[in-house]
Amino acid sequence: MWKVQLFKLNYDKQESQAVKDVVDSGWITMGEKTKEFESNFASYLGGGVEAVAVSNGTAALHMALLALDVGVGDEVIVASLTFVADINVVKLVGATPILADCTSYEDWNISPADIESKITKKTKAVIVVHYAGYSCDMDAISNICKKYKIALIEDASHAPGAKYNGKYIGSIGDIGCFSFFTNKNLSVGEGGMVVAKDPKIVQSLRYFRSHGMTALTLDRHKGRAVTYDVEQPGLNYRIDEMRSALGVIQLSKLEKANKQRELLVKEYVRQLKDVNKINLPFLFQLENDKYLPSYHILPILLDVGIDRLSVIASLKDDGIQSSIHYPSFQEFTAYKDANLGKTPIANDISKRELTLPLYPTMTFEEVTLVCDALKRALV
Ligand SMILES: *Cc1c(COP(=O)(O)O)cnc(C)c1O
Repeated sequence: MWKVQLFKLNYDKQESQAVKDVVDSGWITMGEKTKEFESNFASYLGGGVEAVAVSNGTAALHMALLALDVGVGDEVIVASLTFVADINVVKLVGATPILADCTSYEDWNISPADIESKITKKTKAVIVVHYAGYSCDMDAISNICKKYKIALIEDASHAPGAKYNGKYIGSIGDIGCFSFFTNKNLSVGEGGMVVAKDPKIVQSLRYFRSHGMTALTLDRHKGRAVTYDVEQPGLNYRIDEMRSALGVIQLSKLEKANKQRELLVKEYVRQLKDVNKINLPFLFQLENDKYLPSYHILPILLDVGIDRLSVIASLKDDGIQSSIHYPSFQEFTAYKDANLGKTPIANDISKRELTLPLYPTMTFEEVTLVCDALKRALV
């Protein structure tokens, strides 16, 4: 149906074989493949963290808040331009989400200055999001969190493989959360990862993942444990072996796939930077040694007065799929009456943002098709 779709899986025979091997092995729930995935992921991030694989990115975020004991009476400062999971989990643990605005029209990530201005005695944690795979200003944000003794959670769902000052995104804050949903850079269908340095937090994350139990089904199967204790209340946020096997393969492809995304983004920039009526964010992170983005999506900003819906319709007529990242929370029924704080830049960007197709197997010809269709849509 689409000439160029928003996203395509970067899968080949390796993924099918990996799933078949697991199914044929006779052990399909969390086991040795998951341990391999966790250990590979932790080493990939530089080895300073431990990784706990989970059923999805939202579970990762929920567990991060639980492990930090965030609950009723606490406030959590959250990026304003992000997926709704980030504020849903805060609400569901009984805490209050407070939004901090984007830094600027060039840097859509959470503003360190606005974080600091929204800190109160009740603030217990900050959730930052590395939007589109571009790193937040982690030095400034880490310093603020240290100064006020607030926990720092990185939602790294867009940013596996991205770096800031040589450090992997997700390994900088107290807890890093990743999503491996279908359309993410590392894709297993439904899956996620939580990473942390503090052994107490890591232990707590393991308990929350699996009913607070001290022994896993695998340990009992292998005769290593007969029974188990329950150390704390917990959930079932486990991943299974099929997805972990996909994760192992996808992780091995990540660096090359992100590199391919980078080339495609640079081609987009070459073709779009002088086009009237649009602007491209985060250009300051390109060709800058401080940053290595993971190029998760390709967002553009339409000028004020351009009718986004008609641009989307015109692209669609040309067979080009596009999307929006993200509608503002205040537009959702569940949050329209919530007092989330003022975020004028984010609210404006939400109305004008348009996401163009980007995936590692995309061709330069497809980039040209998209850019030509966009130029037609803008006249
Ligand atoms: C995808 C995503 C999530 C949620 O991840 P799921 O695996 O779909 O639960 C959270 N935050 C951001 C920024 C995301 O892009």
